[in-house]
Amino acid sequence: MATAVENIQHSKDMKQPKPLPAPNSDFYGLAETLSAEERALVKQVRAFMESKVAPIINKYWSDDAFPFELIPPFKELNLGGLGINGYGCRGGSQKMFGFIMMELARVDPSFSTFFGVHDGLAMGSIYLDGSEEQKQKWLPQMARLEKIGCFGLTEPLVGSGAAGGLLTTAKREGDTWLLNGEKRWIGNAPWCDLSIIWARDVVDNQVKGFIIENKTTPGFSVEKIEHKIALKVVQNGHITLKDCRVPEANRLQAGNSFRDTARVLRQTRYMVGWMATGCQMGAYENAVKYSQERLQFGKPIGSFQLMQDLLAKMLANITACQCMLIRLAELDDAGKLTDQHAALSKGFCTARTRETVAWARELFGGNGIVADYNVARFFTDAEALYSYEGTFQMQNLIVGKAITGFSAFV
Ligand SMILES: Cc1cc2nc3c(=O)[nH]c(=O)nc-3n(C[C@H](O)[C@H](O)[C@H](O)COP(=O)(O)OP(=O)(O)OC[C@H]3O[C@@H](n4cnc5c(N)ncnc54)[C@H](O)[C@@H]3O)c2cc1C
Repeated sequence: MATAVENIQHSKDMKQPKPLPAPNSDFYGLAETLSAEERALVKQVRAFMESKVAPIINKYWSDDAFPFELIPPFKELNLGGLGINGYGCRGGSQKMFGFIMMELARVDPSFSTFFGVHDGLAMGSIYLDGSEEQKQKWLPQMARLEKIGCFGLTEPLVGSGAAGGLLTTAKREGDTWLLNGEKRWIGNAPWCDLSIIWARDVVDNQVKGFIIENKTTPGFSVEKIEHKIALKVVQNGHITLKDCRVPEANRLQAGNSFRDTARVLRQTRYMVGWMATGCQMGAYENAVKYSQERLQFGKPIGSFQLMQDLLAKMLANITACQCMLIRLAELDDAGKLTDQHAALSKGFCTARTRETVAWARELFGGNGIVADYNVARFFTDAEALYSYEGTFQMQNLIVGKAITGFSAFV
């Protein structure tokens, strides 16, 4: 039989409100598939993003500005060259690379894009298509983030059709190449140090890659693209190349056709899947918290069935994307990743992201369109993730060709 004291304690406990569950976007505990060391790094990145990036990013986003103040503390995380072995790079498995990209995007998809362009696209191009000498020369300084890179493939008149023919030309004159043309949408370009520019050799009509030092190469100029509504923190540039002279030593020596460009995109496309999933996680976690705090009709909106329906659908999208990407990372680590594998995940994850962030925004009611509540940022950023590195249609055409054997691009 309970004593009087125990009864008092029991009735006190009954009055204590039960603590509400903390938002958790890793519902299946997928981080447990990482090693202890990898989990520690993910935790360190989360701490950086939450303590340094989250408090200031909405202001930068609203101002269309890049937070250069974050570069020195970001360097200390020593993430440069994730997924690349040797050359002073961080290395590690593709799965860990993916988790880190997801973690960056969970707080800010622009910040993950800045890093993805530098690490995946610019460093990845040199790693996959450069000579040994070029890798030795460029990768260590890029891994230390002393030199930041960008990747210039898209042109004002050639976007989805890049494989079908770039208009930017490269003409060899002795040991120098003359580049002419324009590149559009190039992330980091307005301020970074190095550009990987893809151009069509006028002699053999093949696409070749060139490393250009932005600040010292005559004929190279960049204008920032203004008035974006998504990924506003990323500075995108419109590059003009006018008789831009690049030494043969800066031509990527193992990049001899668009196939070699596509090898880089295969890796980075599914990284966009990871980033998109991080974007969903950020939107979802903000939505869960808001649903527990926001009262209507005297009750938290999270207690309404229709709001729970939105949250459950968001979590299902996130979990489906995470599971898909983990398998893809395993395929990549085993050297079995194909273009169609990457395309399926990029298309699927970014499409699910559009749904998830729209549901999150809906749950916030009017506050969902104000930057201060974070979810508006995830909502618009998802639009850019959906279209860059190949639109949804392009991804599905790659998959469609693999399914049927018929190319339906044109
Ligand atoms: C924020 C942002 C950052 C970016 N960063 C970079 C970067 O760093 N480097 C870089 O090189 N590029 C970058 N891009 C460019 C991006 O990859 C292109 O925007 C994308 O590939 C689509 O090209 P486009 O915008 O010219 O659209 P278009 O190719 O003009 O397409 C318009 C529409 O037509 C559809 N379409 C086109 N062809 C077909 C077809 N055959 N069948 C069916 N539908 C079709 C497309 O799916 C799309 O819906 C970036 C873009 C954005 C928005």
